[in-house]
Amino acid sequence: MTARLDLGTAPICDFDGTMARLDVGWADLRVRFGVRSIEELWLGERDDDWSIVTEAEITAAADAQPVEEVMDALARAERYAVLTNNDEGAVGCFLERFDKHAAKAVVIVGRRTLGGSKRDVDRFATGFRLCCTALQLPACDAAVYVGDGAYELEFAGALGARAVSAPLIATSPDDEERL
Ligand SMILES: [Mg+2]
Repeated sequence: MTARLDLGTAPICDFDGTMARLDVGWADLRVRFGVRSIEELWLGERDDDWSIVTEAEITAAADAQPVEEVMDALARAERYAVLTNNDEGAVGCFLERFDKHAAKAVVIVGRRTLGGSKRDVDRFATGFRLCCTALQLPACDAAVYVGDGAYELEFAGALGARAVSAPLIATSPDDEERL
């Protein structure tokens, strides 16, 4: 038997690849937008394209497969925050499916709140602090962060948080595209 995932009482959690696995056709969207990475959309005035991405994410969230270990750990927490590069609406759509979770999510900091990618270290820190405040944590170093991307675990660790790898860590470029 493997040990239960321990995220403490008030963790901060990434969404895609961590809480759920969204089946979004990223390759088709990249071709459609003429970009090598969806993150490139931040470089221009691409609001219409972001709307298309959001629609695809919300559709995927409606029947996305949950990552059971993480969802179980969040169910044991008192409250939690979500810090994600996905649209807030996709997280909301996913959480609606899980009664005991929706009320515990005190804040969802997604790309609309961030106004850019959390792969930017300063933007990550800003979003992280919003989560800590909503969770009523005294400081960032009291936080636990769980995510599937190496970059976010590094950023959270640099802020003094305990960084926990999601059970299914991103291993392929398409996993990394998970926002
Ligand atoms: Mg992720």
